[in-house]
Amino acid sequence: MQVDRDPVTVAEAVDDPWTMALRQFVQVAQRLGLKRGIQQYLMVPERELTVNFPVKMDDGSVRVFTGYRVHHSLVRGPAKGGIRYHPAVSLHEVRALAMWMTWKCALMNLPYGGAKGGVVVDPHTLSRDELERLTRRYAAEIAVFMHPHGDIPAPDVGTNAQVMASIMDTYSMHRGHSIPAVVTGKPVVIGGSVGRAEATGRGVMLVAREAARLFGLPWEGATVAVQGFGNVGSVAARLLQEAGCRVVAVSDVRGGIYADRGLDIAAVQQHAAATGSVVGFPGAAAVSNAELLELPVTILVPAALEGQITAANASRIRARMIVEGANGPTTPEADAVLARNGVVVVPDILANAGGVVVSYFEWVQDLQAFFWDEAEINRRLERLMVQALHQVAATARATGLDLRQAALQRAVQRVAEALTVRGIYP
Ligand code: NAD
Repeated sequence: MQVDRDPVTVAEAVDDPWTMALRQFVQVAQRLGLKRGIQQYLMVPERELTVNFPVKMDDGSVRVFTGYRVHHSLVRGPAKGGIRYHPAVSLHEVRALAMWMTWKCALMNLPYGGAKGGVVVDPHTLSRDELERLTRRYAAEIAVFMHPHGDIPAPDVGTNAQVMASIMDTYSMHRGHSIPAVVTGKPVVIGGSVGRAEATGRGVMLVAREAARLFGLPWEGATVAVQGFGNVGSVAARLLQEAGCRVVAVSDVRGGIYADRGLDIAAVQQHAAATGSVVGFPGAAAVSNAELLELPVTILVPAALEGQITAANASRIRARMIVEGANGPTTPEADAVLARNGVVVVPDILANAGGVVVSYFEWVQDLQAFFWDEAEINRRLERLMVQALHQVAATARATGLDLRQAALQRAVQRVAEALTVRGIYP
């Protein structure tokens, strides 16, 4: 029989992004000496909902879609986390993303637990009406989980402010009055926050700048490559350029572009809006997503999907610093290689936390029905991001851990403490 002090082993875990999240967690939990019961509790999601639901398509046919909403932990407050629309969404991916949300909210000291949701769909293949019907039906299906004090979704890959508006409206219709605080990342006109649309990318820029200072890397003219040109990547690229860096490469799912003199990011945004991709931007050379990751730049910002920097390519990464706009872009094996090669990795739960920080501001504003201006939002965001980076760097210095391990250690410790203080019901 296993006793409470026996370590939980990696072999008890299962496969893929979820395995990766578990391996990160088990490593930290063992280092912290967490009791077996606490480790086991935090290794599994508190609740998981799978929904299979029909949607009427424009041609009159009916298609059945599969979606998920996972609450990893509610110990520190309502569950917070985005909703992803992507063909590769799986329960394991959603679980991993939900666990990372628990650690992210704890690291940033936001009064939230962690959640994530997703629908297995390529939203680009749906018409606007089909997308709205899918969103409204998915929202109705997961409404048993949602509540302004229970579970507050937000945008992620493949979803945006309009999708959040449809979710907020659907939820509100069933209750007979508007409930803006049930979702964040909404359009400003219905209770969204100014600054939220840019918050994740702004946070990436802010931690990159502060980390460059802290680790003695160049900043003015520093070269940057950004993988993924969506909400996070395009904003990060633009703000990094405005802050004085030279963004030499960006990419999206169709491929990448490279220009040694630097890309005009505002012009690339216009090109992508007009054509649907950064590919074919005039005056730039073509580069593949794999090549982009291996460019000799000062700062690499992965801002697409998980599992991009792995044992297979980590030794060829020539960036001096990686700032993780995406969730889970670097595998534990790659982390070890990067650490050996002296690459600074600012981990996802810190680097992309700007989104959930301003989501928190949005929720607070909605609950009090009193709104702040953008300067106030950006000032508060900068303070929290810079402070969190310094705290993580101090923990790293004191323990000899890398930044990811230090960040996870601070976060997991906070959740374990909350769990211990609350005790176990009944
Ligand atoms: P998005 O849908 O707006 O953009 C995703 C981008 O990645 C697109 O440019 C897409 O073409 C590209 N992409 C997709 N698959 C790719 C592939 N295989 N190779 C290269 N590029 C690919 O999504 P987003 O909101 O910008 O999210 C990007 C990442 O940031 C995700 O990991 C997400 O979880 C994370 N994140 C998002 C937020 C947020 O506020 N939106 C907050 C924190 C973290």
